[in-house]
Amino acid sequence: GSGGPGTGVRADERPAYLDPSLPVPTRVEDLLSRMTLAEKVGQMTQINLTRLMGRDEWDRGPLNEAWLQRVLVDHHVGSILSGGGASPVPNDPETWATVTHTLQRWAVERTRLGIPILYGVDAVHGHNNVLGATLFPHQIGLAATWDTALVEEVARVTARAVRATGIHWDFAPVADVGRDFRWGRFYETFGEDPLLASELVAASVRGLQGEDLSSQGAVAATLKHFVGYSQPLNGQDRSPALIPLRTLREVFLPPFEAGLRAGARTVMANSGSVNGVPVHASAYLLTEVLRRQMGFTGVVVSDWQDIDKLVTVHRVAPTFEEAVRRSILAGVDMYMVPLDAERFTRTLVRLVETGAVPMARIDEAVRRILTLKMELGLFERPYVDPQGAREAVQAGEELAWRAAVASITLLENRDGLLPLGARHRSVLVTGPGADDVAMLLGGWSVGWQGVPPGEVPTVVSVAEALRQAAPPEVTVRHVAGGRRAEELSGVVAAARDADVVVAVVGETPYAEGEGDAHVRGYRLSPEQQRLVSALASTGKPLVVVLLAGRPLILGEVAQGADALLMAYLPGSQGGRAIASVLFGEASPGGRLPFSWPRDMVQVPISYDHLRAEESPTPEYDPLYSFGYGLSYTRFAYRDLEVSGQASAGGVIEVRVSVTNTGEVEADEVVQVYASKPFATVVRPERQLVAFERVRLQPGESREVRLAIPVQRLAIVPGDILGEAPMVVEPGIYRLTVGGLSGEVTVSSP
Ligand code: BGC
Repeated sequence: GSGGPGTGVRADERPAYLDPSLPVPTRVEDLLSRMTLAEKVGQMTQINLTRLMGRDEWDRGPLNEAWLQRVLVDHHVGSILSGGGASPVPNDPETWATVTHTLQRWAVERTRLGIPILYGVDAVHGHNNVLGATLFPHQIGLAATWDTALVEEVARVTARAVRATGIHWDFAPVADVGRDFRWGRFYETFGEDPLLASELVAASVRGLQGEDLSSQGAVAATLKHFVGYSQPLNGQDRSPALIPLRTLREVFLPPFEAGLRAGARTVMANSGSVNGVPVHASAYLLTEVLRRQMGFTGVVVSDWQDIDKLVTVHRVAPTFEEAVRRSILAGVDMYMVPLDAERFTRTLVRLVETGAVPMARIDEAVRRILTLKMELGLFERPYVDPQGAREAVQAGEELAWRAAVASITLLENRDGLLPLGARHRSVLVTGPGADDVAMLLGGWSVGWQGVPPGEVPTVVSVAEALRQAAPPEVTVRHVAGGRRAEELSGVVAAARDADVVVAVVGETPYAEGEGDAHVRGYRLSPEQQRLVSALASTGKPLVVVLLAGRPLILGEVAQGADALLMAYLPGSQGGRAIASVLFGEASPGGRLPFSWPRDMVQVPISYDHLRAEESPTPEYDPLYSFGYGLSYTRFAYRDLEVSGQASAGGVIEVRVSVTNTGEVEADEVVQVYASKPFATVVRPERQLVAFERVRLQPGESREVRLAIPVQRLAIVPGDILGEAPMVVEPGIYRLTVGGLSGEVTVSSP
């Protein structure tokens, strides 16, 4: 074609779809009516830029014309992503923005209808594929903040960075509830509780999408991975999940529902199978539940090559053609990275031509995709200015510091060792995490498996941050330890000379898969365990800082440490945040978003377990429970008031007064749990129904008011199939807050 948007329409006519004054549905129908089948199927195809554009192609000139012509014009590809994996092209912000700009120009100016492309990326803790970007704590750390406003702000800053590089779609947040940390991607979740995850998923969606999706600060959010991805039976990524419908509805669906209520425009399907059916072939999950029951109207995108996997992995389709037919009919609207994109488009066209897939289904999928493109304002403002990219991706370092500080969870503090003070004139810092910044960042940080050599972002390490933050009279010495046996004697000698020792230990970063800890029974590496024991035996006060995306089995590490801090995977300001907490610039206010078991025999473990025994045997006896975390101050709760009566559609009012009775400013997370002595089905001992993080000055009291929708008490009643509509069973509920309790009577509807 000779190019220019609207080459497919008469020159004197301004097509309705290009008229921003018309309503989006009118524009979409107009555009749809002009499209060929091949063009429609192209919109349903998403290819991977960084794998297809190898070094060779890149070297022939950034995005050479032959490539652009083939992909965008000949194959009508409507969406491109940069998935995980070391990029063959430079990762600086300007290159990113130039690449997306070039692609977009070609799509808008050279294709017959000038439909802009939709570019997607996994910006899961900041714009993490771009070198130099601000990296926030991973979701598990954000969950430990219990701070919805903070999480929303993090998402907003991330959205601005992503959009500034010409990208419109973020494959985030993860709405999977993390109930089994053997699963390596646990760190990408908001933890074990459905309410905490729901509130934070909704906050992320609000932050990413903003008030107006077409603004330059907004991107489309993705709720992933619908549904059951976090519950592989043996803990291994993408292995099958077996989830009773009751559990699916009470535990795993709520964060998706919350994300949809917040307006999430896209959903990504789970790669695995649930109860024997791959989600990519499940009309029940993708259409009956997601569309009909949950009311979703946006785009369902597959996960990576997952239609092909219906043949090669799940073996529910003998041919690729059958796989495509099943998946598209089940409800997948866009195929992310077909193994062979050309074969996918050819196959889908043939399926429509033979009547195996109705044209109406194609139109429905394409309508959703075009609607999203219009909502994003891509037809009006398809381009970004590459000049603005660097500033936007580097913004938010102060917020990243705040988020990391807010996440840090103090698990032990014997004899008030922390914060470090004037009595600690010499500090020894050691352990692999002291100088390995990749451990601060975790997976999805520039490269696929952590940070590749030569592409280490300039991030301040823990050792460096401690040096910078130490008061003038304090010396900080760093000695390498915990990687090799030969290091041990040097570290021990240095410890004997120090007043206090800080050992920074944890997991080697990984993105997907199970991670190293998997092969070690979820313990620290033997070198790190030996390091901690050797340091503990010197008798010097020992602070252990953990950099990990899950609760590692601590064993003797927990006993050996005088103070224990969980820092999760805190991001580019992680070193500074840890230093701020150690030196008392900030009091730790993070609370565990998961249960921390003593040993793997307790796994799976969650605080909302179901009772097994009638005696007071400790059925839930973790090392640290869900919601736990110490502070540099103390809090006292009094005057709990619970509205005595509520109806099923109403709200329970809770008021409680919280006082900071200690000497320093600090945050407390007020947590309200509900329990019901008897129900028609087995219920958890308690269930989180509300929370709020508050900051209190020393001596300050605050009355915290929480409004709890009675619907939060809804359960799936009935027998084991779990299909009955959810209800709030009438009766007396006990609410507990900070050791106090009250009762509310919920009346029959
Ligand atoms: C992951 C998704 C991710 C996609 C694109 C897949 O392997 O499961 O979470 O969005 O890759 O990078």
